[in-house]
Amino acid sequence: MLTTDRYAAVMPLLSARALRKSYFKARLEIPVLKHVDLDVFPGELISIVGQSGSGKSTLLHLLATLDRPDGGEIRFEGNRIDNLAPAGRDILRNRYFGMVFQFYHLLPELTTLENVLMPVMIGRGVLSYYASRRRYVARAKELLELVGLSHRLKHRPRELSGGEMQRAAIARAIIAEPKLLLADEPTGNLDRGTGEEILELLRNLNARHNLTIIMVTHDNAIAAEADRTVRLFEGRVEVPVAMAVDAA
Ligand code: ADP
Ligand code: MG
Repeated sequence: MLTTDRYAAVMPLLSARALRKSYFKARLEIPVLKHVDLDVFPGELISIVGQSGSGKSTLLHLLATLDRPDGGEIRFEGNRIDNLAPAGRDILRNRYFGMVFQFYHLLPELTTLENVLMPVMIGRGVLSYYASRRRYVARAKELLELVGLSHRLKHRPRELSGGEMQRAAIARAIIAEPKLLLADEPTGNLDRGTGEEILELLRNLNARHNLTIIMVTHDNAIAAEADRTVRLFEGRVEVPVAMAVDAA
């Protein structure tokens, strides 16, 4: 049975239609995404795979509103987000989306705890942050416990292992209680065992905290543990053989 049947009556959390994106080198157009359709349903953990250079990061950046498509549309909970003004995108990214990257992007001069608190400081504004500081700090500590970093609150990123840095980055990504987590190669810089641990953490957040996750990876073993895999090929989502047969 196709997993899509199960979601037929549910509105996608995020959907992309006919997305196009090219880069230009000199005046030569390099089409990266030619026509991408994608639906992500509430509660799913999907992986996006494809060869290096197939446009996985490009797609994730468009979905996260970090960049704009040349054509097509993106909807979040039914509303267009690809054409939002910068202020609207900031709110979306701060309140509804969490992001995790291959190289963690922690601020080196801040402790683990301070890194996790950064989004609420930015999102709520410094004054309102200080008014509720104790609550936010308590929440950050809870999350750091959830990701297994209670013993590293005052460490700076350079004093952490790769796996620990990614755990801190994941705690930071979820402190604002996003509806969607977008992760670009979250295990890409980690050894296999540590990568598996990070994946297990993401799976737990997905299952127990109902966090919808889109994870880009070039690692087929990691991708296979998602609910569903979407493969980019030649600028489009490749239709799985089973589905193509089913539709015929
Ligand atoms: P992936 O994440 O699947 O490895 P990317 O989305 O990073 O692929 O890149 C897709 C293609 O677009 C690659 O050929 C890459 O060189 C090119 N590309 C990505 N970003 C830029 C950019 N800012 N300017 C020009 N070309 C880019
Ligand atoms: Mg990439």
